[in-house]
Amino acid sequence: MDVYDRTHRNVEERESMYENEIAQITAKNSNEEIYSGLLELAGKITQQKGRIEGKKKLYYISAEFLIGKLLSNNLINLGIYDQVAESLKAHGKSMAEIEEIENEPSLGNGGLGRLAACFLDSIATLGLPGDGIGLNYHLGLFKQEFEKNLQKEVPNPWMTQKSWLRRTDVSYPVILGDKKVQSVMYEIDVTGYDNKCNTLKLFDLDTVDESIVQDGGIQFDKENISKNLTLFLYPDDSDYQGQLLRIYQQYFMVSNAAQLIIDEAQAKGSNLYDLPDYAVIQINDTHPTMVIPEMIRQLVLHNIEMDDAIEIVSKMCAYTNHTILAEALETWPLWFLDRVVPQLVPIIKMLDVKVKEKYQDERVAIIDKDQRVHMAHIDIHYGFSVNGVAALHTKILEESELKPFKDIYPNKFNNKTNGITFRRWLLHCDHELAAFITEKIGDGYKKDAAELEKLLTAADNAADLEKILAIKKIKKQQLKSYLEQKEGVTIDEDSILDVQVKRLHEYKRQQMNALYIIYKYMQIKAGHKPKRPITMIFGAKAAPAYTIAKDIIHLILCLSEVIRKDPEVSPYLKVVMLENYNVTYAEKVIPAADVSEQISLASKEASGTGNMKFMLNGAITLGTEDGANVEIHEFVGDDNIYIFGESSNEVIEHYKNADYVAEKIYDRDPEIAKLVDFIISKELFAVGNKKSLIRLYMEIVTKDWFMTLLDIKDYIRVKEQLFEDYEDRNAWAKKMLVNISKAGFFSSDRTIEQYNEDIWKLK
Ligand SMILES: *Cc1c(COP(=O)(O)O)cnc(C)c1O
Repeated sequence: MDVYDRTHRNVEERESMYENEIAQITAKNSNEEIYSGLLELAGKITQQKGRIEGKKKLYYISAEFLIGKLLSNNLINLGIYDQVAESLKAHGKSMAEIEEIENEPSLGNGGLGRLAACFLDSIATLGLPGDGIGLNYHLGLFKQEFEKNLQKEVPNPWMTQKSWLRRTDVSYPVILGDKKVQSVMYEIDVTGYDNKCNTLKLFDLDTVDESIVQDGGIQFDKENISKNLTLFLYPDDSDYQGQLLRIYQQYFMVSNAAQLIIDEAQAKGSNLYDLPDYAVIQINDTHPTMVIPEMIRQLVLHNIEMDDAIEIVSKMCAYTNHTILAEALETWPLWFLDRVVPQLVPIIKMLDVKVKEKYQDERVAIIDKDQRVHMAHIDIHYGFSVNGVAALHTKILEESELKPFKDIYPNKFNNKTNGITFRRWLLHCDHELAAFITEKIGDGYKKDAAELEKLLTAADNAADLEKILAIKKIKKQQLKSYLEQKEGVTIDEDSILDVQVKRLHEYKRQQMNALYIIYKYMQIKAGHKPKRPITMIFGAKAAPAYTIAKDIIHLILCLSEVIRKDPEVSPYLKVVMLENYNVTYAEKVIPAADVSEQISLASKEASGTGNMKFMLNGAITLGTEDGANVEIHEFVGDDNIYIFGESSNEVIEHYKNADYVAEKIYDRDPEIAKLVDFIISKELFAVGNKKSLIRLYMEIVTKDWFMTLLDIKDYIRVKEQLFEDYEDRNAWAKKMLVNISKAGFFSSDRTIEQYNEDIWKLK
């Protein structure tokens, strides 16, 4: 049998190969037994398919991989999902029940980590040799609970006896301050859709001790590095000890990565001078930046001259920038690095001197005049590629934020608009829609997302439009029963489902959406009832030390309670804040959504990927011209998206001239003032925390750094128009179809093809 036959055996054939095993597994009594049986079977098939090999390999280094549950994902990719689902059904069980057994690994915060996970799926699907490298956080990101309308953080242990995580005997020595520790590498298989597999490699320490976490919270002794190193993702770094720990984590990740990369290349015959022929490193945001000096240090330990080592490493590393928010561009005081990674400091200083010899411009220095190290500057000078994550974002990087670098290195800069894997965000999360699409246009779109365009013909067919509305209703009903069981709330499947789910940050402007709720509440109180009930769904975690973000969550929870208890308003308006929004939740709520809220202040959201998931699932975007919304707008056209607010150019001008003063708008416009004043009304004080509400009110009136009051009126106007248009069900269904059929560009398969073409150049 030749190679092609082995890897591309058609799905039916593969199904029949495992028929007996699947029948045995699904006949088991307990869901736990079925889950672990499927886990083993998937592992076996993965092994039979084998690994993707190639001389040159990609190492995607990222502090986060928000992979989500893997059971369905892997069964789909291995081609046995349908068979397993049918077999379960025959035994009176459902896939959903079995999925409940699996914990979601919380190895990421949000978009950046989820992107890394989508990329791994696409890399394997395209048959490219490429592994992820990260950390095995035992308690992951915190789990969110609500208590008295406030966010509470608790640990989120996710590892279980039987899981996708596999311990290996790969281990490296790593210097951590005055200690030398020995790492251990874990692996998770990354199955490609109808292809072989790669792996996600997660490094850890055996000495990490979960029992040092105090009182069910997320507090712990931050000084004991060997016990706490990989306990949590991004431990609260608002204090000194937390910041030290964060650098230790970063260094531990990249030192392991550097040693692994050298090992694997040497095993394939590299003499290390030719390392760039064997390995390319994608640096996901600045967290893995220290891989550059560390790789140089490791090469020097292998008897390579410093200057040669610098040249070798510079040909291997590529950097992805994810944000232009100043506070997110990492800088560390030099003395700080001297305490944690003294072995790297002489190298960083040398890299800085070389830059200063060539370029006198302060703005491109690695070490600034205040002795702070700019991590991104290391990446840009000593990497061969710098990319932004959406067209607008890359343009802003080139024209303003990183302009001095663009002038020096015009050819290093490139754009790679983000994408999402259609396996998880369509085939898995909306079987009904996927089946409809397959029925209309065949299943070529599963491998070539551009084929979704063929669906456009359905926009003229009345029966198809009815079908698409019926599927949306099914997804709403499914969400309804999930929420009843999970949150104890009942939503109306005939209401408009308006959804804003994403991390909580002021630039994403959940507070503006909250002001809309206040507007609608007041309208209903004044007798202006909406034609159809509206359900507003939020999901968002706030960083534990981010006070204003927590105040915004508090406001939304309080509004939810006030409205729920008001019999005049509650038949028309409902506000639901999902507890602990994560990938699993996203998979349930996005397919049910009618409206996708993407309302960041223009210029602030680098790309967004939530916007793409919604589009693919037939939700209509209500958004600003920001991030990838701009490209979504271009694809679907003016009639199939709702755009509002000031443009990124206008916003950038406001910042430049410092001419935005929230208080002026508040004083000048009584309608806006009325909405903001409600935050400190007796109604909200009755259910909420006075201090938090007043603090948020003051923030919006006197600071409003992300210009909520600038766009609020236009937002309300356009949102009202959208709700009115929703009533023409036929026209709305057409908009849905146009969105779905134009979503092909946002497949991460396309993104990864572009990374490979322009940056990685893997075979
Ligand atoms: C996609 C996703 C995100 C990113 O959402 P944005 O709207 O792009 O910020 C965050 N969290 C989860 C769980 C996701 O699935």
